Amino acid sequence: MMKKNQNKTAPKFPIVWKKKDFSIKIFCSIPNIATGILLTAGKNHFVIDPGDGILRDLSKELGVESLKNISHIFVTHGHHDHLGGVWSLLTYLRVMNKTSPLKIYYPAGCVEIESIYHAFTKVYSHNLPYKIELKKISEEKKFSVKNVSVKPFAVIHKEYLPNTKGKRIVPALGFHFNYNGTAICYGGDTGYCDSLVKAAKGADLAILEAGHEESTPDDMHMTMDEAQSIGKSAKKYVLVHIPE
Ligand SMILES: [Zn+2]
Repeated sequence: MMKKNQNKTAPKFPIVWKKKDFSIKIFCSIPNIATGILLTAGKNHFVIDPGDGILRDLSKELGVESLKNISHIFVTHGHHDHLGGVWSLLTYLRVMNKTSPLKIYYPAGCVEIESIYHAFTKVYSHNLPYKIELKKISEEKKFSVKNVSVKPFAVIHKEYLPNTKGKRIVPALGFHFNYNGTAICYGGDTGYCDSLVKAAKGADLAILEAGHEESTPDDMHMTMDEAQSIGKSAKKYVLVHIPE
């Protein structure tokens, strides 16, 4: 049955992109519902924005052993549709007896991931077989995980305050990943901003949100035109986070 207001520009998931042994699979990216992304470099798997459903998708994709070996998670910001699957993923790894450490990278000021971490480690303080390390990102400094070079960059994202017309800034990052000379840029949720323009330029793949429904730009999400204009500076781009 056709849904009301079905948006013909909304992409079909999953979206898969691959160059040699560097690949990305976007299981889902639907505003207010969920985002979930798997990045694979050689034999290493990384999770980006573990929204609701990420455990189901990773389990289907990787199986238990590879899932247990996941060592790094990247969170762009604290909105529920980008980290709603964290608790179940952490619990699953505990039940499956993961023993290797798990590092979670997130923007400074993202209280949601810190709160989940504190609650989780409190609940399972006596029987957690693996170590969780929170890696707060407060500067745009390049670092490496396994063989992947990661450059975080601040983007512009906001949320509405309940019961008012006001908005507030949400700490938010995009990530630029480079593996053996191949670059993938993921902007997360963002309005049009110079940092994203710079990061996406020349990337082998740019993953750009086009979540703003109107054609007048705002400072929360990008319009289709804005996202496309940035996308064209990359070798290839995909648009995500488009309202369905
Ligand atoms: Zn958001």
